[in-house]
Parts: sequence; C-alpha cells; structure tokens
Amino acid sequence: MSTTFKDILSQVKREIREATVFEVDAATKSQSNSILLDVREKEEWDEGHLPGAVCLPRGFLEVRVEKAVPDKNSPVIVYCAGGVRSALAAKSLQQLGYSDVVSMAGGYGEWKNNGLPFVVPEKMTKSRLARYSRHLKIPEVGEQGKLKLLQSKVLLIGAGGLGSPAGVYLAASGVGTLGLVDSDIVDESNLQRQILHWSSSVGMPKVDSARRTLFEVNPDVKVRSYQVRLDASNVLDIMEDYDVVVSGSDNFATAYLVNDAAVMLRKPVAYGSIFRFDGQASTFVPYQSPCFRCLYPQATPPELAPSCDEAGVLGVLPGIIGLIQATETIKVLLNIGDPLVGRLLLYDALGMTFRSFKVRRDPNCTACGANAHIDLEAIPEFVCATNVR
Ligand SMILES: [Zn+2]
Repeated sequence: MSTTFKDILSQVKREIREATVFEVDAATKSQSNSILLDVREKEEWDEGHLPGAVCLPRGFLEVRVEKAVPDKNSPVIVYCAGGVRSALAAKSLQQLGYSDVVSMAGGYGEWKNNGLPFVVPEKMTKSRLARYSRHLKIPEVGEQGKLKLLQSKVLLIGAGGLGSPAGVYLAASGVGTLGLVDSDIVDESNLQRQILHWSSSVGMPKVDSARRTLFEVNPDVKVRSYQVRLDASNVLDIMEDYDVVVSGSDNFATAYLVNDAAVMLRKPVAYGSIFRFDGQASTFVPYQSPCFRCLYPQATPPELAPSCDEAGVLGVLPGIIGLIQATETIKVLLNIGDPLVGRLLLYDALGMTFRSFKVRRDPNCTACGANAHIDLEAIPEFVCATNVR
C-alpha cells in the first residue's frame, strides 16, 4: 500500500514540535532573539502577517534560510496559513541542522481568529508605482525603501517657515504619516515664506491650512494635526509614535523641550534654524551625536536675542534649510548616506557658502551627558506671541 499525504503529515507532526498561537505570542514577547518565519506565498503575506515576521515562502525555504537565519541555534518559529506547510517546513529546518524549531499550530488563521496583533504591509499599487516611479529607479531607495517611507511617521514641530518646505517635500516623497504641531493661526506676514499656507488661508489654524495643502500634494499621506502649544505635559505623548522629529522652532524654550523629549525617547531629530540670511542644520541622534543642548547649553539671554517681532528672514531661506532637514529625515529613515550626525552645517545665503563643522558631545550635557537629569517641567515657557520661524 502506498503512503498517503495524511500518513506523511502525521509522521512529520510526531517528529517536530508545535506551539499554540498563545505560546507563540508569549514567546515572541519574552524571547527577543526568536525568529518568526512566515512560509506562505508572497500574496498571502501581503494580506497581513505577524508583527516582526520574515517572509520566506515554502518553495524557497531550503535555498534561502541559511542567509535569513545564519545561526542554527537561534529559536525559530515557523507559521503558514493553517499549520500544514509550517509543519513540513519545520521538519526541513531540523534536517538542515536548526536545533530549536517550532511550528505554530493553526497558523495565521488561528492567530487572527484569536484577536492577536497582525500587520498589513503597505502595498505598491498601480497608482503608487506611477507616482513614485522616480524613487523606484534609485537603487538606494527602490521598492523596499519606498515601502519603508510609506510606513514611516515624521513629526514636524511647527507648520511655519521650516515646516512648510519640509512638509511639502516629505509628503510628495510619500512619507506615510506626517504629524504637525502648531497652535498658531495663519497671518498675512507668514505668506512670504511659509508655503504650506496660501492667501486664502489667512485666519485659519495653521494645522488646518497645512492639512489642506498636504492633501492636494499627496492624498496618500496621512496627516495628524495637533493644534496645541508644545509643553511638558504633552510633548512625550505626541512625539512617542514618530520615527523622526523635524525641529525648526523659533525659540530656545521649544528647542530645549523638543531636544530633551527626543533624548528621553531616543528619537532622531532633523534640526534647522534660520535668521536673516543665515541658516544652520544638524541631525541629532541621541547618544550617538551631540544633542541641541551639547551645542547650546545656555539660551541666549532675552536682551541679546532679537525679539520675535524684530527678527527678519529672507523669504527663500527656510526653503533651503527646511529641505536640508527633509533630506536628512529621508536619509535617517532609509539608513543611507552620511547624515549630519556630529556635524553642524552653516549656510550663508549672501556669500552662497555651505560650511560644516565637526561637533562633539558634551560630557557635562544636562540632557545626554553622564550625569544628565532631564526635567521637562523646569524648562521655562516661551512667552512671545508672534512667531517668525
Ligand atoms: Zn547633549
């Protein structure tokens, strides 16, 4: 009598280990080094999969697994749609010398039916392929990079001079979620440089005006708006969910608040500032590069700093610095190139020069130094009513 598939499967199931979906859920939470392999086809993966899983279809398993999981002693959890393909995959992995392999009984179907978390990856639809074709042609970006951008979340502190060009270009580039924090109303004096806002926006909250523009630029982008003044009570909650923060505040109080919260949450910050014809930019990666406080341990005394009403800025200057911040943001998100980490870039519009200086962490920095003590509540509030940015 010939052997049936049923016979083979029951034989395999006796030789492998299986785990319930709840055991897998617990294991992935407690064992950070366990590797989740999804052995379904790519089309099934695209419909949704377990968070943190690696897509390795059954047909390619033996060919590719040693590259995907080089250490044969790593704990490996395999799953498919219902638990059959993963059982066979687990058997193959054992034969290849993997010592700690488990197949998830019931598969993705059982996982989902029990309300356990799953993610649906961003897809390159026909319209996205057309819209982002110039990105797809760059090897450093490509489809993977493009999908990464679509899944990324960037928070813009201020929808003003710097936030405008950064926001418009990040939206056009297809960064999936943009957060905007701004409590101001659009004023006529903003229109000389804040290109998120149009003449018809005067009198509107900046976050609403910005949302309208960004939707026209790219309806694929989710815009979350926060019409609040950033302070110690809300900064951590707002910032927590984002991958990169674009900081272009016009005052030291907000700059310190954003910096200290970013250090606490270990969020990279694309920093920029502008004044008259001069701009500067840097990228702060907490504990890898200096932070804003390493560079500016003390705020300029109010009597020396130009007051908000008096400070002027060339209308095109924020375009240049804001786009440097947007460029840095994309590089950090895609992990490409050399961001301005540990470097301060100075731009002089009149001389048309860019110079960059190495900057170092301050061991005594009150935010990121050895004896740092961050107290968000202690940062004095900013009192100026008119913002330049
Ligand atoms: Zn620091």
